[in-house]
Amino acid sequence: MNYKRFAFAIIILLIILTGVYFISDINNEEISQINNENNNNIAVKQSEGSEFLMNTLVRVRIHDENSEEILEGALSRIRDLEKVLSKTIEGSDIYKINLNAGNKPVLVDKRTYELLEEALFFAEKTNGSFDPTIGPLVTLWGIGTENERVPSQEEINNTIKKINYNNLALMDDYNVYLKNEEMSIDLGAIAKGYAADKIITYLNENDVESAFINMGGNVSVHRKKVDGSLWNIGIQDPDRTRGNIIAAVKGEDISVVTSGNYERYFTENGIRYHHIIDPDSGYPAKNGIISSTVISNDSSYADALSTSLYIMGVEKSFELVKNMDNINIVLITEDDKAYVSEDLKDKITFTVDELEVIYK
Ligand code: ADP
Ligand code: MG
Repeated sequence: MNYKRFAFAIIILLIILTGVYFISDINNEEISQINNENNNNIAVKQSEGSEFLMNTLVRVRIHDENSEEILEGALSRIRDLEKVLSKTIEGSDIYKINLNAGNKPVLVDKRTYELLEEALFFAEKTNGSFDPTIGPLVTLWGIGTENERVPSQEEINNTIKKINYNNLALMDDYNVYLKNEEMSIDLGAIAKGYAADKIITYLNENDVESAFINMGGNVSVHRKKVDGSLWNIGIQDPDRTRGNIIAAVKGEDISVVTSGNYERYFTENGIRYHHIIDPDSGYPAKNGIISSTVISNDSSYADALSTSLYIMGVEKSFELVKNMDNINIVLITEDDKAYVSEDLKDKITFTVDELEVIYK
């Protein structure tokens, strides 16, 4: 092949590759991935796979002697979880609970029950800012669906009344009951974190050397990188397009989860309506924060809290997490400030100059 044709082929290939990168649902990401470095010089086998599951692009990379088998095991665990946790798949536990609301209790899978227990724990911790019975409000706004619209104040007032986690009853023997007919459960703010934790448990059971999981921007890393160094995980810049980071956090065995107003939203009359709903007002949360990141060794904590903190605002968020072990946070506000947990000081690097960084 002559040189020009070869160069042309390479350019086309690069265009295709970057195109694929940008259309995929990725925000938080591992830095070496962004820079396209690779670890090919290291003699541990590596397998990578992605699949659209739980409404998001799930990407898993396994470094291990049995990487192919482990990768398949990890993905199949998420497929199984989706079947019980999905709100829309007919016959799933959540589907059945919602269908039988106000009518009768439903016997669910142990995992569904466990996740609902966790969800109620966060609802209590956050005084209801996080509420797994947010379903009717999510449906009313329809954000990210073809039905998205700004509801009337009357509709909002009527719908708010249906949201109340105290009416979600976890009964004996894995029976779950929603006490009022018009209630529904939505686990969109916690299910991915729970799934990531299940993968990590599986990786530990199999003594896997190293792994990287990205569920639509929820990142979890297992142990260190294969070269023995720490992972470096980028936090998406809420003001710029996907792939641009605002900071990077170093660590091992951690999960980094961000909730932002840039993920799913629509705009009407210049106002952005996003998918994190404040159960008190019934409107998309508006408390000064445009992106909230939680770093924890537990991904369901990180997931549930990232959504909650977004709603709660800076002061209440720090108050809540200061008494929790192993939870560090990064809150970016609309006035270009980053409020960061003191403990992250030597682990985090900011990459944007305009940002004022305040450790708390
Ligand atoms: P993403 O799923 O885009 O990563 P989040 O983890 O922040 O983002 O979750 C947002 C989703 O959580 C919404 O799409 C909705 O399904 C659900 N949700 C919205 N508001 C609340 C709330 N106050 N409490 C619990 N879940 C919520
Ligand atoms: Mg969340």
